[in-house]
Order: sequence, then structure tokens, then C-alpha cells
Amino acid sequence: MENNNNNPYSMGLEQNPANYAALSPVGFIERAASVYPDHPAVVYGSVQRSWKETYQRCLRLASALQQRGIGEGDTVAVMLPNIPEMLELHFAVPMIGAVLNTQNTRLDAETVSFMLEHGRAKVMITDREFSTTAERALKMSQQQPLVIDVDDPQFEGGKLLGQITYEQLLNEGDEQFDWQPPADEWQAIALNYTSGTTGNPKGVVYHHRGAYLNAMSNILGQNLPPHAVYLWTLPMFHCNGWCYPWAVTAVAGTHVCLRHLQPERVFSAIQDHGVTHFCGAPVVLNMLLNAAPDDGPIVDHPVTVTTGGAAPPAAIIEGIEALGIQVVHAYGLTETYGPSVFCSYQQAWDELPMDQRAAKMARQGVRAPGMAELMVADPLTLEPVNRDGTVMGEVMMRGNTMMKGYLQNPSASAEAFSGGWFHTGDLAVWHADGYIEVKDRSKDVIISGGENISTIEVEDILFRHPAILEAAVVAQPDDHWGEVPCAVVTLKPEHDEVDAESIISFCRDNMAHFKCPKRVVFAELPKTSTGKVQKYALRQMLQD
Ligand code: ADP
Repeated sequence: MENNNNNPYSMGLEQNPANYAALSPVGFIERAASVYPDHPAVVYGSVQRSWKETYQRCLRLASALQQRGIGEGDTVAVMLPNIPEMLELHFAVPMIGAVLNTQNTRLDAETVSFMLEHGRAKVMITDREFSTTAERALKMSQQQPLVIDVDDPQFEGGKLLGQITYEQLLNEGDEQFDWQPPADEWQAIALNYTSGTTGNPKGVVYHHRGAYLNAMSNILGQNLPPHAVYLWTLPMFHCNGWCYPWAVTAVAGTHVCLRHLQPERVFSAIQDHGVTHFCGAPVVLNMLLNAAPDDGPIVDHPVTVTTGGAAPPAAIIEGIEALGIQVVHAYGLTETYGPSVFCSYQQAWDELPMDQRAAKMARQGVRAPGMAELMVADPLTLEPVNRDGTVMGEVMMRGNTMMKGYLQNPSASAEAFSGGWFHTGDLAVWHADGYIEVKDRSKDVIISGGENISTIEVEDILFRHPAILEAAVVAQPDDHWGEVPCAVVTLKPEHDEVDAESIISFCRDNMAHFKCPKRVVFAELPKTSTGKVQKYALRQMLQD
């Protein structure tokens, strides 16, 4: 240990309020509103509000919640689509030290009620669109939060559940509210439940510091310019919209909200509002690709999409780039505030033919600017694997854009952080250029005759088949090999004559034979609301 007395840089150079402030993304909105008061902050159908107006609404909301006794450490659960209120809550709730728990709007009432209880929600903000689920969840729950309804005039249907509407609550608030940033940047800002495919969901807790840093990291990773126009195609409930509510506000951009994701609306929003950036899982990109009117460019200005949440097949990256939309590939988990690895683009790839360039871009990449360290390593010894693009290990990370831990679950937190690294549960190879390539979730990899088969790799080939709309590969038990790959595919409407044999022979022409699916099943793919194929459900379906 260094003796501080001998270090001239530690004497009389202490932290004080003039040279140190807790990092928090909440201050981004005060800056946007004071520097660009009249710039459009949010557009949603007939609603358009400036940064000044949006900030004033946040102040009123924060003060009204505080007057009703909500404060530091209290959970505010919300079940909302991508509408302006959802954005406002990302600032108003942490302004008073409370914790925002955005809930997946497609979950069932049992899970919502579990989250309300586990997160001890003091407030539940909901929307008529989800009133059936929310009402059932509230009835089931021991926890009885203050229920507030967003009564959106642009949506018909459902019913109001609560004691008060969002606008009535705003009217209780004070526009001059004097909020204070957190004294400690380690203070919780958000609670995000994982999908809980194997048991109850785990509550991932974010801190102000991490949210600030990941917002900055996104700005660098996706080249968000000042006044970026950002289209909300990614659910804001998913890892706080990968921290984009904060990132886009930091650049005083414009949030273009969409309640429902429909390709035609996405295309027209891009044109009508001059959208420059959006995000979406590969399934969303595939949906856009299949709905695009022509093969050529569909945009007349630069547009960038960040994709992640599942591995994007190279064919999808290629297709989207052909529409004139630049792709950034990101990888991350709920635990890492969303994107924590980017496939940072190298100019030398410009020289490559499109398919090879897309193959480079389909790799997950290198640590995002906000993440301190990334490695692919043996999960037990923590020994990094060789950077040879062949040996598989587990993806591990550590740094400041990492969750505090799981709420009230110390054993799961300790397991996730064992050895001082966060264990992702994803298997990857490490290439010589330092880029990682995820091959599978460890529970999805197929072990056939002692060889590992990456389901992502097989899917990548299937997506190149001209008749295939979507594909997923899962293990099927086999007496001889232990497991063999089985492909479940859906076909494009105009190609319904294609049979299993021809798909298998296409695979045999394009990959090592031991990796080829032994069986092809034509069926719908079960997916989570964040665009991941539910492979456990597929395995179950095949077994049945
Ligand atoms: P959940 O686990 O609740 O479905 P997460 O959003 O935390 O939700 O999922 C994180 C997982 O998603 C990662 O562990 C990984 O398996 C997968 N994933 C995310 N981004 C990518 C990507 N770019 N490529 C491959 N897999 C990805």
C-alpha cells in the first residue's frame, strides 16, 4: 500500500462539492430544457412537446409523487407502452430518489403480481391497453400500491383502474419543484426483472452512476449526434430501453414515440420525422425487411439502427444495409444495462464483399466504451481462452455499467459475480482481432457425439435460404449421438412448397455435415416480447 503522505497528489487535493458530483442521468433533462427549451423533445401522434414543456411535466410529476409520500428507495412500477409518459417517468421518478420498475407489458398477471410484491411497489402506473392484466395482478397481490392511469386520448379500449389519472396527478404538482441529484451515485435508479424462464424472475438493480455511464457509452457506440431523432421501436420497458431515454435526452434529441410496432408506421415515421436512429431486436429487423416495398434503399437520409438482444443473422444485416439503413450490432444483458459490447466498425471492412462484411458485423464485438473489461474464459478457472476463433468459453465482464446485484437475492448475486467477474451464461469464441463471437447460451448449445454445435451458426445458414422467413435450431435427444440439431422454420408465404429434404440438403451444401439439422419441422416460433426465440419451449414442443 502506498504511503499517501509521500504522494504530493493526495495532499490538499481532496474531493469537495466544487470538483465532484455524483453521476446521474437525471441532470440531462435539466440541461436539455435550459439549453434548448423550444427544441422538440417528444413526438407522439398529435402530441408534440418541447424540452421545456417536458421538463416542466417531469417536475410536476416528481413533486406530486413526493407530496403523496413517495421518496428515496420507494418502487414505482409502470406498465406502459412507448408513449411520452414512459419517457417522463425515467426522469421524474429518480428525481425524488425513487426507483423505476418498468414492467414487461406482455407478461401474465401472476408474474406482474409477483413483481409488484417482490419489488414492494408503492405506486403502479398503467394504461388502459393493459388494464385486464394489471387489474388481475393487483387483485392477486398483497401489495396495494397507489394506482395511477395514463388515460391516453389516442387509444381506445380497456378501462381505468386507479384512484387518479396521470394528468390529474400532474395538476397536483409544482412546476418550480427543486429536486436534488442523489448524494450518492450508487443509489438505485431502476429495477428490471429478467424474463425468468427457469423460475421466478430476478430483480436487477441499476444505480445512477451506471445509467449515466451507459447512456454516454451508447452515445459513443452508436454515434448519437446532437439532436438525434430517435424512433421508439425498442420497448422502453426492456432494460430501460437500453438506457436510450437518458442517452437521447443527453444529446437533446427528439424522442419519436410509437405505441404499436408496425412496419408501415416505422417506415412512415422515419420519413415524416427525419428519424436518424432506432433500435430493435433482429426479429424486428427481419419484420421490416420482409415488409419493405422494394429491394433498394427505402430512406433518403442517413439512418442507423442498433440491433441486439439476440444474434442477428448475417443475412438480416445484409438485407437491412441494402435498404440504406446502417447497422450497429450490440450485445448485452439486463444485468449490463443493455448494450455493453459493440461490434465496433473497422474501416478496413469497407473493402470486403457485402457477405464477408456482414459476417464480421454479425460478431458481437468488443467492450463498449463504458464497460471496463470483457473476456471469454473458462468459467471455473477464469483462464481466458486462446484468441483463435475456435475455443469456446464463457463471456464475462466487469466494470461500471454493471448492475448492483439482484434485489433480495444475495446468493444469485454472489453466483453471478463469482471470482470478481460477471458471468453471462453465454458461450463465445474470441477472434485474433479481439472481437468476440457468441455461439450460444450455455443451455442452448448442442453437444453431438462430443462436438459442440452452435445453434446460432446453423441458424445463420438457414436464414440464407431464400424460402425461410424465420428459423431456430434446438437439440433433439438421439440414441447414438446424444443430441442432434433439429431446425424449426417458418416459410415466406410465397414459398410454401419447400420441403424438409431440400432444406437439409441446402444445409449440407453450406456447412459441415455433423452440424446439419437431422430434422426440419415447420411451425411458428414462440418468442419473448423482447424478440428472443424461446428455445426451452421449442424443445418442449418437439418432445411432446
Ligand atoms: P432475458 O435473459 O431476460 O431474456 P436479457 O435481455 O437479459 O433478457 O437477455 C440477455 C441475453 O440475450 C444474453 O445473455 C444473450 O444470450 C442474448 N443476447 C443479447 N444480445 C445478443 C447478441 N447481440 N447476440 C447474441 N445474443 C445476444
